[in-house]
Amino acid sequence: MRLNTVVLPLILIFSFQTISALEADKTLNIGGAKIDIFFSPGVAEKDYKLDREQVLAWVKRSAIGVTKYFKRFPVKSLKLSITDGANNRVNGTAYHGLEPLITINLRPSFTEATLVKDWVMVHEMVHLSFPPVHRRHTWLLEGLATYVEPIVRVRSGLLSEDKAWEWLIKGAPQGLPESGNQGLDNTPTWGQRYWGGAIFFLVADIRIHQQSNNKFGIEHALRAIQRNGGSMQLEKNWEVVKALSIGDKATGTKVLVTLYNEMKDKAVMTDLNAIWKDLGVSYRKKQINYNDSAKSADLRHSLMNQ
Ligand SMILES: [Zn+2]
Repeated sequence: MRLNTVVLPLILIFSFQTISALEADKTLNIGGAKIDIFFSPGVAEKDYKLDREQVLAWVKRSAIGVTKYFKRFPVKSLKLSITDGANNRVNGTAYHGLEPLITINLRPSFTEATLVKDWVMVHEMVHLSFPPVHRRHTWLLEGLATYVEPIVRVRSGLLSEDKAWEWLIKGAPQGLPESGNQGLDNTPTWGQRYWGGAIFFLVADIRIHQQSNNKFGIEHALRAIQRNGGSMQLEKNWEVVKALSIGDKATGTKVLVTLYNEMKDKAVMTDLNAIWKDLGVSYRKKQINYNDSAKSADLRHSLMNQ
């Protein structure tokens, strides 16, 4: 979720030292990773409608979904802290470092239904899949998590394809540039960080499919970045072009670096309606509709299911 870059280093040190001194309540081994889970006292216990088994099952299915998408869990070890203090929905934050940390906030009134419809756990785990970068590129991290999270859940049966398209079609217009926009690197607004970044990944995913005759998608680029050491299990930032170049090499294209150069320092008005029409997907009367005779209907299927 939102990374507060100002307070991040302090929280990182505090949380890490606090957590390292404790013994995990539960350790899961999933996708080659050791996931140590820590519950704050009272969380998912007597005052809660949820119990710890339900919370652990939610962690497990989220981690399995992320592993399926990336072909392994993005980092080798993770500390996952489950604490109280959420507002009306689950809150979470991911922190990079040699021992990456995710903090998740719950509250006593949450039920199994809260966890079933939650997107935050997968969103934070997707954050683990990209190296830390300078804060001017935060849109790249949030855009990746915003775009990939629903696809992870579709591919692991945790979300319907209709809901994933609804999320994209309703959300993406918030990422279109407004007046004064100076490109993704220079416009640190909420809309640009989350949905401007998501548009970057949507367009990249489409171009990779088109230029590789549907052989590759953004997941192949992301897996290659991880295989080459690019994940949140790092203390120091990577240069963006280093990561994107590794991704491009894996797909035999120049899509990511080219698109980055297009969008980094100037406003780009992506024609979202043309994209939806081309893919054969629309949202009308509170319902998703598909057109299988659209020009890129096959590509639409590949984006969600490949
Ligand atoms: Zn996030």
